[in-house]
Amino acid sequence: MGQIITLTAPSGAGKSTILGRLNSKKLFTFSVSVTTRAPREGEEDGVDYYFVSEEKFHSLLSEGKFLETAIVHGNFYGTLFSEVDQILSTDATLLLELNPEGASNAKAYYPTSVAIMILPPSYELLSERLKGRATDSVQVVQKRLSAARGEIKWGIDNADYFIINAQLDQAVEDFENIINIIKCKHSVFVENNKKYLEELTNIM
Ligand code: ADP
Ligand code: 5GP
Repeated sequence: MGQIITLTAPSGAGKSTILGRLNSKKLFTFSVSVTTRAPREGEEDGVDYYFVSEEKFHSLLSEGKFLETAIVHGNFYGTLFSEVDQILSTDATLLLELNPEGASNAKAYYPTSVAIMILPPSYELLSERLKGRATDSVQVVQKRLSAARGEIKWGIDNADYFIINAQLDQAVEDFENIINIIKCKHSVFVENNKKYLEELTNIM
């Protein structure tokens, strides 16, 4: 069975930017979530999210298709069982991008999951980056900023690893190092390397 890593960050902390840099390295597999949020410029249906109407979201929900769901900044988001189960049946490392509520639910469902949080260097820089991204209205930016403090407090109580995204290159390197360390953790390593360890020892 694969390993689940949850990634949580206040909006604007740089999650998409860091993941974009790591994409080609094949460090982990993504699960594509369902959302009722409108696509941002450059986002693709089925790649960044499955973009659906609220009606469709609720029909998936009533069919029991979701491992977890959350309302984030007024939009619905959900992780599909079908995505997660298919990936976990292999030895892949699965990265789930979740808000705090979703990350707590994933931990309750998969206690061996590991939680990473990305932090901005300061609240002021978070605000600048969110405004500079220019993908959201002033009201949406305000909503995201006021949620940030609570999200960070959740991280202080729940995250296993933190990354401060000050210099992008350093943050990307830190992220990569954390993923590699998680893969070497006893429970993850033994679970993911059963055949290899069996051959090495012939006793497992
Ligand atoms: P998130 O996915 O966490 O909401 P983004 O990756 O969209 O955040 O980043 C928010 C904005 O901050 C983007 O405009 C991005 O280019 C910028 N950004 C991300 N990381 C850095 C960094 N280390 N230094 C300066 N700007 C950054
Ligand atoms: P965005 O709209 O900026 O892509 O994401 C907003 C927030 O929703 C982020 O904190 C992101 O991690 C979270 N999110 C994205 N997909 C899911 C999901 O499937 N479930 C939950 N709980 N949160 C999600």
